[in-house]
Amino acid sequence: MLSETAPINLVVLGPPGAGKGTQAVAFAERYEVPKISTGDILRDAVQAGSDLGQRAETIMNAGSLVDDQLMIAIVRERLTRSDVVRGFVIDGFPRTVAQATSLDEIMVGRGELFVIEITVPDETLVERVARRRVCEQCGNVASVAAGVERRCAKCGGELVLRSDDTESIVRERLRVYAKETRPLVDYYSGRPTFRGVDGNQPATIVGTALDEAVQDIVAASTVVVAASEGSAG
Ligand code: AMP
Repeated sequence: MLSETAPINLVVLGPPGAGKGTQAVAFAERYEVPKISTGDILRDAVQAGSDLGQRAETIMNAGSLVDDQLMIAIVRERLTRSDVVRGFVIDGFPRTVAQATSLDEIMVGRGELFVIEITVPDETLVERVARRRVCEQCGNVASVAAGVERRCAKCGGELVLRSDDTESIVRERLRVYAKETRPLVDYYSGRPTFRGVDGNQPATIVGTALDEAVQDIVAASTVVVAASEGSAG
């Protein structure tokens, strides 16, 4: 049953450039839950030069996926921390059916898993990623429409291209998405906690649609619970 105090555990699904990261950050702020990004965890590890980072770097720069067991272990550990008791939003995981089935196991006894798919046409994704820059200092993600902005609007840090955001790597990441991750839509779409959101609109509008989708899931769950309680009595 979903009460007002039930945790909101949200998975944001979608291809590279769909706006998952942007939406996850905004959602985490609005709902005061932690944002978990497996891509960020891996990039931090690469930067720190840890064993994990060394294993992940070549794979990430090829546009491929880091192996399931490693990713599942990372997420399992992250979800043991106390900050997730009121819920979380996760971006970049699961990316394969094996990761999704493990996440279902991890979630047993922890409340519902909300899944929102953000959809955007492929060519728009390639264009968006070409314009995407990340602040070296604060990690803020910016879109450089004219390709001239070099400084982060939030902190003044230098805006750089992610090493896996070049066009050829993005096309490979889209291919990997279609093959490995898109099947998750079939995996989740029959659930009452799944919704799709049109990501081909301004980020604030996508954010509103995402909130509405979450509220719709909460409302529908309450109705289902109320009906089954009624019929039992
Ligand atoms: P992202 O920032 O989510 O686009 O992730 C960047 C890269 O990190 C991906 O292209 C993968 O190489 C790797 N990665 C992130 N999350 C996962 C995951 N759940 N499974 C496998 N590889 C991942």
